[in-house]
Amino acid sequence: MSMIENLEFIRDNGIDKFLRQQTKKYECPTCGGVVCVHNGRCYECAPMA
Ligand SMILES: [Zn+2]
Repeated sequence: MSMIENLEFIRDNGIDKFLRQQTKKYECPTCGGVVCVHNGRCYECAPMA
């Protein structure tokens, strides 16, 4: 999603929905934990060695 698309999404859907959507993007499909935005690794079940 581009910056402009993000802004349009916020305008149309509200910041709450936008933040929820952003959070979901960084959710581990295995455990539902938070995934690192930099390397895509889950903090919960795939911690950095
Ligand atoms: Zn996980």
